[in-house]
This record gives sequence, structure tokens and C-alpha cells, in this order.
Amino acid sequence: MPDRVLITGGAGFIGSHLCARFLNEGYEVICMDNLSTGSLENVARFFNEDRFTFTRYDVTQYLHVDGRLDLILHFASPASPADYLEMPIQTLKVGSLGTHKALGLAKSKQARFLLASTSEVYGDPLQHPQKETYFGNVDPVGLRGVYDEAKRFAEALVMAYHRNHGIRTHIARIFNTYGPFMRMDDGRALPNFITQALRNEPLTLYGDGSQTRSFCYIDDIVEGIYRLCQTDYAGPVNLGNPDEMTITDLAREVIARTGSASELAFKELPEGDPMVRQPDITLARSLLHWTPQVDRQTGLDLTLDYFRQHIQSP
Ligand code: UDP
Repeated sequence: MPDRVLITGGAGFIGSHLCARFLNEGYEVICMDNLSTGSLENVARFFNEDRFTFTRYDVTQYLHVDGRLDLILHFASPASPADYLEMPIQTLKVGSLGTHKALGLAKSKQARFLLASTSEVYGDPLQHPQKETYFGNVDPVGLRGVYDEAKRFAEALVMAYHRNHGIRTHIARIFNTYGPFMRMDDGRALPNFITQALRNEPLTLYGDGSQTRSFCYIDDIVEGIYRLCQTDYAGPVNLGNPDEMTITDLAREVIARTGSASELAFKELPEGDPMVRQPDITLARSLLHWTPQVDRQTGLDLTLDYFRQHIQSP
């Protein structure tokens, strides 16, 4: 009998790549998603696979799964700032109630559990690069607080279930990730820049574009998550690519690689937008023997191929 994994948010960007990876590893995959930000197109390629099941369900409701479960990967949540600003209450609910339901299920099935956490737990960081030991700088009542605090609460809940119920749990603090199957209109920097460049429209830079991010290709994140599940380590682990750059440089790179005629258009900086972000991955390197393998040029070209195939005229 193959191991069975439940992937909440399995029809989302990272979730759908995890479905692919765990199917490839021989698992039976139960993909659960309410399709609020995920999409069936992301998982359509698995529909004729016997070991794949899709369930449309809101993970904040009572959760029931028939039979055995070996692992739960809890990825359900809006994750792009534009999405969670539009769905603030759903974001808080899925991080709190949804994580509670998913942990309850893990407890009843004696399944391992991995939480998709985020670099947003560090907020607008005062420590740079960010280590797992940094407590963060988050405004609980700011606009981004709905996501940041939901994920911080989720981390606390995971640790409580680990300590009190002895569940084998993991927390992946995932930094900016990109690649095929990102939603083109999810509002994040890279999908925006790529669609704008391919349409020869101005690239929208928020603020003066000097804020930094560190972008990791999806395959590297999936590898890190897979390896983390094989350990007994319960504390948070940063997963991301330390290759930090300004958002202006990212925009220029997208223009160069697409050969676009687009120019840069400066817009207002959203409230609470972190000014810097770079993961310290010392822990992941030593614990998982993991380090990102895909350089940005390669990753960008693979992502561009996907967007070119999916782009439609506005
Ligand atoms: N950003 C931008 N133009 C866009 C979209 C985003 O300049 O069209 C900026 C955004 O303000 C942030 C950075 O790019 O500083 C990364 O934003 P993203 O939404 O990708 O995710 P975040 O890292 O903020 O969660």
C-alpha cells in the first residue's frame, strides 16, 4: 500500500507542484482545495492518475478523510498580498481554524504534519538576513497583519500540537517562490512583470523599487519541503534562495529576458510592504543538505515559457 498524503491547498501554485512530486515518489495524493485562489487547471494533468483524488472543500470546516493518512501538507491559504488583502477574514480563518482542523486530523490519523509558513512571519524585518531565531517585526493591526498573524498563530498551534500531543510536525518558512503554475493575475511582482512585459505594457514598480526580495525557483522549494518531511525536526526552517535583488533590478531583468519594449511605471508603495528580505539558510543547509540549485536565468526562462503559453490579450 502506498503512503497517503493529504495536501490542503493542493490546487494552488506550490500545492500543485507538491502533488506532482508526491505522485512521483509513489504516494497516494488527496488534493483538497476550495479553489478560492487555486485552480483545477493546475491539477488537471493528474486526473487520470489512479493515486490522485481531488476534493473541493474548505479546510476551515470539520475535516474528514476516509482511511489511513501518513502525512498532511497544510498549504491552504491565500498567499499573494493582493489576494489576502481582498480576503482578509478568509485568510485569518484558514490560518487559524483551518490549521486547527488539519492538526486535529493529523492527531486522529497519527499522521505527520507540515505547515506552509512564510517569510512574512518576520514582517518588515529589523534583522537582515533573517534567521529562524528572529522573532520578527509585525504590525498586528496593519493591512498585512491578517496574513502574518494568521501564519504566526498557525506556527504556535503546530508547536502546541507537537509538544502536547506528540505529533511529528514541521514548519517550512517559505520565502518568495516563482515558477510555472503561478496565477498570472495573482498580483505578485513576478507574474505582474512578466505579463506586463509580454504585453509591452509599463512594468508597475511600487515605491521607488529599491525594496529587496530573494526569489527561489519552485523545484528547489519542493525539494526542500520533501527533505524536511523526512526529518524529525519540528522547529521552523527557512526555505528560499538567498540571492537578493531590488525589485527594480527584477523588473529590468524581466524586460531584458523578454526583449520587451516596456518601460517602468512607479506607483504608490503598499502599506507595510517589507523593505528587505533575504533568508539565512544555514539551518536548511546543515539539516537537509539542501541548497537552491536553479539560478535565476534558468528559472526565469522556464517561467517565461509557461506564461507565454498561457498569456491572453487583456
Ligand atoms: N511589487 C511591485 N510591482 C508589482 C507587484 C509587486 O513593485 O506589480 C513589489 C511589492 O511592493 C513588493 C515586491 O514587489 O515590494 C514583492 O511583492 P510580491 O507581491 O511579489 O510579494 P511580497 O514579497 O511582498 O509578499
